[in-house]
Amino acid sequence: MEHVFPTYAQYPMEIVSGHDWHLVDSHHKSYLDFTSGIGVCSFGYSNDWIEQSVINQLGKVWHTSNLYPSSLQDEVAASLCPAGMLAFFCNSGTEANEAAFKLARKATGKGKVLAFNNGFHGRTYGSMSLTGNPDIQTGFKPLVPEVSFADYNDPQALDAINEGLAAVILEVIQGEGGVVNGNGEWLQKVAAKCHDQGVLLIIDEVQTGIGRTGMKFAFQHYDLDPDIITCAKALGNGLPIGAMLGKKELAKAFGPGSHGTTFGGNKIALASAKAVLEQLTPKFLAEVQEKSQAVFAAIHKQISPLTVVDSVSGLGLMIGIHLSAAVKVEDVIGQLQENGLLTLSAKHNTLRLLPPLVMSEADLLAGIDQIAAVLAKVAAVSESQSV
Ligand SMILES: *Cc1c(COP(=O)(O)O)cnc(C)c1O
Repeated sequence: MEHVFPTYAQYPMEIVSGHDWHLVDSHHKSYLDFTSGIGVCSFGYSNDWIEQSVINQLGKVWHTSNLYPSSLQDEVAASLCPAGMLAFFCNSGTEANEAAFKLARKATGKGKVLAFNNGFHGRTYGSMSLTGNPDIQTGFKPLVPEVSFADYNDPQALDAINEGLAAVILEVIQGEGGVVNGNGEWLQKVAAKCHDQGVLLIIDEVQTGIGRTGMKFAFQHYDLDPDIITCAKALGNGLPIGAMLGKKELAKAFGPGSHGTTFGGNKIALASAKAVLEQLTPKFLAEVQEKSQAVFAAIHKQISPLTVVDSVSGLGLMIGIHLSAAVKVEDVIGQLQENGLLTLSAKHNTLRLLPPLVMSEADLLAGIDQIAAVLAKVAAVSESQSV
C-alpha cells in the first residue's frame, strides 16, 4: 500500500470476500476465520438478518444530523442498555472511552482517573492516556494528566481507590494485553471500593461485550454494577459504531451542547446494530456457552499439554493460548495462515482466538485441531533444536 501511512504491520494477503465464517483472499484461497476482524464480525460475513436491516435503511435515509431525534437510536439504546442506563452513540471504541472519560470528569467535578497496567482503551489522547502500555504511548507525550496506573488483579490496587478519583476504568478480560482474565473476587472488590468511595466504575466492554464471553457483557459473569459501560467492535458486525452507556443520574452532566459527534448514531450503522441485538438472545448466548465448553475441553486435551504452551485463558469464545519463549506467536500465525486458518496475536506471545460466535461447533473444533497440529509440529522442532 504505497499511498497509505504504514501504521499497520500487515500480512501478505488481501481478503476480498467472505461468507458465514469463511474468508477468501485475492488468490481465491479460502480461510476458516478465528478472528472476526478483531472481535467485530461475530455474526459472520453473510448474516441475512443484518443485511436486510441495512439494505432497508439504505433505501430510506443514510444520515440525519443529531439535531433531529432518531427512533432507531432510541430503540437500539433500549435493547443495548442495562436497566437504568442511557446511551451515547459514537463511531468506535476509542470514542466511547473518550465519552466515558469526559462524562466521568464532568459528572464528578474531579480530574483523577485510575487505570490498569497492561490495559487497552484506544488510541486518541484520552483513551491512549488511559492505556497502560508504554509501547502505545511512546513518542506521543504529553498525555492527558492525572491518570495513574495500578497492577491488574493486584490486591494492592484497592489502596489506590479513594474519594479523590473521578473514575476507575478497566476491562473484565484484558484483550490486547494478552487475554488476561480478571479475577472475579478482585473485580468485585474493586467495584465495591469504587461504590464506597463515590468513584465511578467504567467497564470497557469494547472487546468483551456483545456476547463474546457468552454473556451480553462480561461484567455480568461477576454481577458487577458499573456506572459506565463502553462498547463498540461487535456492535455493528463490521459497520463502525461505538456506544457509551451510563447511569441515568449522570444525564445532568451530558446535557445539550456538552458532547457530540457528526456521525455518531448514523442510521446505517444503527440498522446493523439493531439486527445484531435482535439476534443476541438468551438462546443464542446459551449456544455460545455450549460451544465454548466444547472448545475449551478440546484445548485442554489437545493444546494445554504441549511443551510450547505455558497456559490457556479466556472466557466464552475469547481465548488466549500463551506460548513459551521457545516459539514466536507470529511464526505460528503464519503457519496457520498457510494452512487456511486465520488467528490473532496479543501481548506476551499470546495466540488470540476470536472466532465468529455463529461458527458451528464442528468448524470450531476443526480449527482447534489445526492449531494443535501446528503447535505440536513447532514443539517438535524447538525440542530437536534444543537437544
Ligand atoms: C479495540 C479496543 C478499543 C478501541 O476500539 P477502536 O474501535 O479501535 O477505537 C478500546 N478498548 C478495548 C478493550 C478494545 O479491545
